[in-house]
Amino acid sequence: MGNILNGKEVAEALKQKLKVEVDELRKKGVVPTLSIVIVGDRADSAAYIKGAVKRCGEIGIECNVTELPQDLSQNEFIEVIHRQNADKKIHGIMIMRPLPSQISEDVVKYEISPAKDVDCFNPINVSKVMSGEEGGFAPCTPSAVMEILHHYGIDPKGKKTVIVGRSMVVGRPLAMMLLKENATITICHTRTINLAEETSRAEILIAAAGKIKMIKKDMVKEGAVVIDVGINFDENGRMCGDVDFDEVSPAAGMITPVPGGVGAVTSTVLAKHVIEACKMQS
Ligand code: NDP
Repeated sequence: MGNILNGKEVAEALKQKLKVEVDELRKKGVVPTLSIVIVGDRADSAAYIKGAVKRCGEIGIECNVTELPQDLSQNEFIEVIHRQNADKKIHGIMIMRPLPSQISEDVVKYEISPAKDVDCFNPINVSKVMSGEEGGFAPCTPSAVMEILHHYGIDPKGKKTVIVGRSMVVGRPLAMMLLKENATITICHTRTINLAEETSRAEILIAAAGKIKMIKKDMVKEGAVVIDVGINFDENGRMCGDVDFDEVSPAAGMITPVPGGVGAVTSTVLAKHVIEACKMQS
């Protein structure tokens, strides 16, 4: 199909650019290094880490995974983060979330150094995304959406853009990133009255609700750009998005598949942020 926004293609193009940057850093004796910190066992986190380690390795980024016990106290966790903040060999730190209940995200988010916070956990980086200030790190998933738009030359300027979902991980930061590029934004959520009326006005429609195939053909404007951030699994265990791809893709101008869309770009964006952090610190 000619209207596919291919995440793998976007990730590959970005990967080639990043490899050149890493080669230059390595020639100067600098090895960009990411630390991934995980507390306890989670199957979804393990899958994400595996993908991130592989992608960083392909680009030439060193990746250390610190696995900590499920019953680690909040103070012990903070000590680990402080040690990594101070470690000059580590340029980026990614804390896998959610954390166990004894560790409060609202407390520990202040502890990660903003300069190493490559997935936008620290409120300083969050506020930079919200205000449109340069020099921070946006969360990787919304950044991956922006990479896809840029790669395919889709300019959000002045476009009616509707985002379904208002989480701090995807919907809200993405709205601010699109606003910075002059899109006209509507954010929808579970209390939106007449969701279909809102979505069918969109020239760019972004689904980030986590509801399997909820976006149907009659909710999409003919020719719209449709970006599906959702990761869900159907009754047969197959991965699928928030958009009913088979129904919507013939009407959409361009559309991301799941898998092979936004998710395929996220770990490469993480690598990009590690390299940026490394350059700022070296
Ligand atoms: P959350 O559950 O935190 O947020 C979902 C948002 O969608 C909420 O704002 C919720 O509204 C809204 N929503 C849920 N159902 C509906 C509905 N029926 N109508 C309108 N709005 C609805 O999810 P996340 O933001 O963390 O993730 C969203 C999706 O993106 C998930 O499928 C997740 O797996 C995927 N994801 C993909 C990533 C990738 O790399 N591709 C990375 C991160 C997430 P309300 O606020 O009112 O509850």
